[in-house]
Parts: sequence; structure tokens; C-alpha cells
Amino acid sequence: MAAFGTVFMPEMAISQFDGNRWSDAEVVSSDSIQMHPGSHVLHYSSTCFEGLKAFRHADGSIQIFRMDKNIARFAQSSRLLAMPEIDEAATEKMILDIVARFASDVPEPPGSMYVRPTHVGTEPAIGKAAAPTATSLQYILLSPVGDYFSGGDTTLRLLLEEDGARCAAHMGMIKSGGNYASALNPIMRAKQEVQADQVLFCPDGDVQETGAANFLLIDGDEVITKALDESFLHGVTRDSILTLARDMGMKVSERQLTVDELLERAAKPGCEAALSGTAAVLTPVGTLIHKGQEFKVGNGGVGETTVKLRQALNAIQWGQAEDKHGWLTKV
Ligand SMILES: *Cc1c(COP(=O)(O)O)cnc(C)c1O
Repeated sequence: MAAFGTVFMPEMAISQFDGNRWSDAEVVSSDSIQMHPGSHVLHYSSTCFEGLKAFRHADGSIQIFRMDKNIARFAQSSRLLAMPEIDEAATEKMILDIVARFASDVPEPPGSMYVRPTHVGTEPAIGKAAAPTATSLQYILLSPVGDYFSGGDTTLRLLLEEDGARCAAHMGMIKSGGNYASALNPIMRAKQEVQADQVLFCPDGDVQETGAANFLLIDGDEVITKALDESFLHGVTRDSILTLARDMGMKVSERQLTVDELLERAAKPGCEAALSGTAAVLTPVGTLIHKGQEFKVGNGGVGETTVKLRQALNAIQWGQAEDKHGWLTKV
């Protein structure tokens, strides 16, 4: 099977901001975009994106998961990067229209259509290192994706990184390109030196998140995860899993988690840890690596509660359980 995010639908929705207004959305080939080499994004990283999924239900309908929350975050990222304000209603219509156009290509569960809204600064002005782009481009790419869990019941190995940070502290809640590039060298080093799958960034002992997913510790009937602040990405999956955990009667603690507490709790039998994200859904973590030492989380295997929460989320996404919180939008 092709790697996640490498297959694209042949067309995408696109709209330009000319400094005053957004153009009417068009559907164009997704092969290429034309942009001046001096475009603001290519020099000063004025860019942000979103990731959400559309699912095929048994009745044949196509349903998008938590679109409103993703669009709100897209608008917030644009604002925090001093990019042109997006028109949320227009973006929503672009998403709905392009997904409807490729409705017959939306895979059956456990597959889905991954939706990638993207916003980039296009003003050709390399003198604007300290000034915002006046113009921008927004497009909605579609990529059909398969089952992320076809790997079976493997668990992830995470390196706890206390010295470096994933990105600048004030950039954490912005879903923006430069943040991923800034995390790459530590991640590649961790893969090479300790065969870690991901780095769990814990600046000064504060357990934050990995390069592209949030971190949850599950200890008995309690879920513990960092409380929202501007230092990390506010995952829609994180929010959904916490809501489902509360629905199941679990205790949800959004608070600071230190590396010391994490290692102490993880050693207890029955303790679980997981990464949450739109692509990963909820992926079990089996091993934590800290200062050259390896620590199993619980027994190091796939946790029962992790599976239960993932199944509860998938059941709503796939139309097999009631959508009590109104998370789905029919295309
Ligand atoms: C996208 C992302 C997440 C997960 O967010 P979801 O809305 O759950 O997909 C977490 N951390 C980072 C850094 C991300 O980019």
C-alpha cells in the first residue's frame, strides 16, 4: 500500500486573497500551483494547514469529522501568523464541495479521505522579513488513506527529550510548516541512536507532545494530559478522546505532567500511554527511553483502555455508534 499522504485526488479547490478579498473558489488540477519564487511563504514561512477526515457510512453517505473545529483552528493559525484572515464559511464550502466531487473515491472504513486545507503567503516581497504577506492562497487537497493499524499490535518507542523543544514556545498551538522542520533533526537523531519511533518533547521536564501527535497517559480510570496552553498543538483527536473518556465515566486530568511523574506512573502494571492525532487516531506507546534507560509502559503491550477509546471514536466516525456530540457533517 502507498505511504500515508502520497496519493492525491487529481483536482483540488482553490481560492486567492488579493489583499482585499477572497476570489470565488475554483476547482483546478492538483498537479501544481504557480507561485512567484519570491513568495513570502518560501522565505518567511507564512503557512499553515489542517488535517481532517471524511468517512463513508454503510448507508452510502459521506460524513466529515469535526470540520467546524478544524476550520476554527485554521483561522486561528492564520491569525497568529499575521496572515490574511480566512473566510470560514467559504473554506467550509470549499471542503464540502471538493469532498462531494470525489465522494465515490472515499474509501470504506477503516480507510477514509484525508482532507488537507493549506494556506500560504504569496506576496512576492523578499524585503518583508518583518512584515506580513498582503496576499495569499488557500487550497484543499484530498488524499485517500488506508488503515493506519494494519501493522497489528505493535507499540511505539518514544525518546523523552528534555533539552530541546519541538518549536518556539509561542508557536506550539499553530499548525504551521516551520514547526515540523524545526523538530526533524532531534527526531532523526532519536531514530538513529536509540531506534525510537518518535520524540516526546518535554522541555524542562514538562511532558508536551511528539512531532505531530498529542500524548495521553492512561492510569487505571484516569486520563492525564497536559492542559491547553500556547506551547503545544490543541488536537481535535485529543479533545474527542477526552470527551469519550468522560462519557465512559473516566476521570480526565488536564494538568502539568512531569517526566518524573510519567516514569513513576508508567512503571505500574496496567498503566498505558498513547499518541492521539487525526492520522494516528490513538496509537499505543509501549516504551519510554530516558537518559539511556528504557522503561516499559505497563507491560509494554497494547493497552485495553487505549483500544476501547480508539474503538469508541472509530465507531462514531464510521457511523456505527450514535453521534451524541454532533461531530459529523454530512456532505
Ligand atoms: C495535527 C497535530 C496534532 C494532532 O491534532 P489532531 O487535530 O488530533 O489531528 C498534534 N500535534 C501536532 C504537532 C500536530 O501537528
